[in-house]
Amino acid sequence: MTPGSEAPVPVRLSAEALIDLSEAAAALSPARWSLACLGRGYKGWQDADLRALPLGQRDAMMLGLRRALKGDVLSAEPTCQSCTATFELRLAIPDLGYDAAREVPGQDSFDLRPVTLGDMLAVEHLAAPQEAEAELIARLGCGPSDDLADRLEALDPMADVWISCACPECGQQQDLALDVVGFVAREVRQIATRTMRDVADIARVFHWSEADILRLPEARRAFYLSEALA
Ligand SMILES: [Zn+2]
Repeated sequence: MTPGSEAPVPVRLSAEALIDLSEAAAALSPARWSLACLGRGYKGWQDADLRALPLGQRDAMMLGLRRALKGDVLSAEPTCQSCTATFELRLAIPDLGYDAAREVPGQDSFDLRPVTLGDMLAVEHLAAPQEAEAELIARLGCGPSDDLADRLEALDPMADVWISCACPECGQQQDLALDVVGFVAREVRQIATRTMRDVADIARVFHWSEADILRLPEARRAFYLSEALA
């Protein structure tokens, strides 16, 4: 992990940053968007440091940004794979096992290294899965092998996290892939939309500029919003 050996501490993303990132989420691929978020949220981390992050650590740092914004509890509404009912799923970030400070082994005894954000940026534009896999294997500098996925998982177990849960309607047990970047992107879009609605309500009454309203500390923006809506 670089830079420094302490757990990376994110800044709390500002309202302007969240609106920028919300717009970027519509335009960028998931890997590129996560790079943009981490660049805004972790001061002192250069582009090369972020590209070198193993995916589990990238996700841990994305969740660090999310904790600074909205706290520890993730709420999702997955659809049951059996009865198609939608149910509520609540996950506490500390229980998931991510640790942004954990040192991921650089390589295993066969010189295999974990997949990094830089690798994802290099292969995510390749539409054919076989082509992406071949490019990834070339970047990892290893030959194709039947146990490659297992060895990569052993190197970086948090790169691919599945949540086991039971549907409260039909009781069907199921495993759901945890898409950290997709989850944070949805929340950032929700926060940005709400903030822009607040700006519109305040501007309608007070005729201040968007930039001025966004610069207000959150508590004061909330006060003027309640005045505008009174
Ligand atoms: Zn069900």
